[in-house]
Amino acid sequence: MKRILYIPFDQLNAGYGVLAKADPQSDLIVLVESKRMVEEGGWHKVRLYFLVSSALHFAQELRNAGFTVSYIQAATTIDGLKQIQGDYPGLPILTAEPSSHRLFNQLKEFGVEYVENDFFLTSRSLFTLWAQKQKSFLMENFYRAQRLRLGILVDNGAPVGGQWNFDKENRLPPPKNYTYPPYLVHEVDAIDQEVADRFGIAPATTWATTRAGALRQLEYFLENHFEFFGPYEDAMTTENWALHHSLLSPYINNGLLHPSEVVDAALRRFERGDIPIAGAEGFIRQIIGWREYINGIYWHFGDHFKERNDMGATRKLLPLFTDSGKTQMNCLKHVVGEIEERAWTHHIPRLMVLSNLALLTGVNPQEFLQWMREQFIDATDWVMVPNVIGMGMHADSGEMMTKPYVSGGSYISKMSNYCKGCAYDPKKRVGEDACPFTTLYWNFLIEHRPEFSKNHRMAQQLAGIDRLSDVPELQVRARQVLDGLDRGEI
Ligand code: FAD
Ligand code: SF4
Repeated sequence: MKRILYIPFDQLNAGYGVLAKADPQSDLIVLVESKRMVEEGGWHKVRLYFLVSSALHFAQELRNAGFTVSYIQAATTIDGLKQIQGDYPGLPILTAEPSSHRLFNQLKEFGVEYVENDFFLTSRSLFTLWAQKQKSFLMENFYRAQRLRLGILVDNGAPVGGQWNFDKENRLPPPKNYTYPPYLVHEVDAIDQEVADRFGIAPATTWATTRAGALRQLEYFLENHFEFFGPYEDAMTTENWALHHSLLSPYINNGLLHPSEVVDAALRRFERGDIPIAGAEGFIRQIIGWREYINGIYWHFGDHFKERNDMGATRKLLPLFTDSGKTQMNCLKHVVGEIEERAWTHHIPRLMVLSNLALLTGVNPQEFLQWMREQFIDATDWVMVPNVIGMGMHADSGEMMTKPYVSGGSYISKMSNYCKGCAYDPKKRVGEDACPFTTLYWNFLIEHRPEFSKNHRMAQQLAGIDRLSDVPELQVRARQVLDGLDRGEI
């Protein structure tokens, strides 16, 4: 053996990273399952199951392809690498640039050599070049540059369909009297069963743990959901937990799928002519726009971004986040219940239900980030930090998103059927049955009016305060709601 190739659990792809040029004759492959992740993290068991089973399957596939593979269980990643170095002294260790600041710095210090991380469509240096030319980091500007750079949905420099963005056509509430396609159920094998037993759960058939399964999920999405993804991408319903979302983030994030093959497959499907441009554009934007932008922002803003708490929020994590039984708010009960079951919910519940509540109640952003990172199947540092600190919690004074994503119950009422079965009324802001979101939304605007008054994008929302006739009662109710949420009784 001439080299040790270290494969983190989010680089599980033989065609990319350090494996792209690997040789079974001279390269020893190493994967490390760290006890810190498995035993000390407090991570959702479905998430652990998915990550560990995917890594074990990948190790097996590499062995089948003729590689020598060592799957090490150690206290930490560095301990695992020390162990393999002891067994093979003097060999260099190589990996593709790690996807978190922490691992990047730790491995560098340990002497691991890096090749470029090609698990994204945009290199870190390319994003920096774009960012250096921006006054503000508008995702839409980045996205248009991506369309042109990658030649996706463009015709002679103009957007296909005559518009860059069809978001306005893509904001429908959930459909009524509607039959959703059946959920795709993934097969379970002996490795899955063994890993599930280790974590004391049943194998999670919602999630594939192999590349073949991930490709099946991609195909199933394109065949059954792609057409309707755009129009219903913001809708929420108790009738179906996935709606028309792709459920692909876990695989794109752990390497089983590469974003380029997802985009290529979607474009091929669009070119067949049965997917409207609004839907196709909506999905492609998520992958070449949002996903790449978030990764770029993570590296551009640096490691300290995750510590930002510019609003000085100090509230402890609300009990309802860790126990869906600790709330009477139907939206929260439902969304947290979904996470408890399968470690996933789509982007609007993450933003407009979970983060919205955390921001309106002044939960400490780092506590909220920690909880989100532990709970979601697709969580990794690069994607959670900008999404939570910048987008969800506005803890960076708007450096990333310019204005906070806050709303009262009216948004949730419009975009879901949650309010129908709720103890609270989304239209009310005072009184025992007032919707906590509505009360807290106005209270938040009143409290933060001085700092937001300089932000012209907030002008319309702030002007609404002057039309309120019940500010004193509202503030009393807000105090009751905050106390009730702290006790897990609201
Ligand atoms: P779809 O709705 O089908 O979208 C397609 C793909 O677009 C996703 O698979 C994902 O790869 C990409 N994408 C879309 N939006 C984003 C985004 N904002 N950031 C990164 N990728 C995006 N996504 C994660 O992968 N991991 C996370 O830990 C994560 N945390 C989030 C936290 C908050 C507060 C918010 C608002 C969003 C977060 N997202 C995260 C983004 C988004 O919610 C998920 O990517 C999406 O819900 C995954 O489900 P899906 O694959 O069905 O996505
Ligand atoms: Fe949620 Fe308020 Fe609607 Fe109840 S009324 S489901 S708390 S938004």
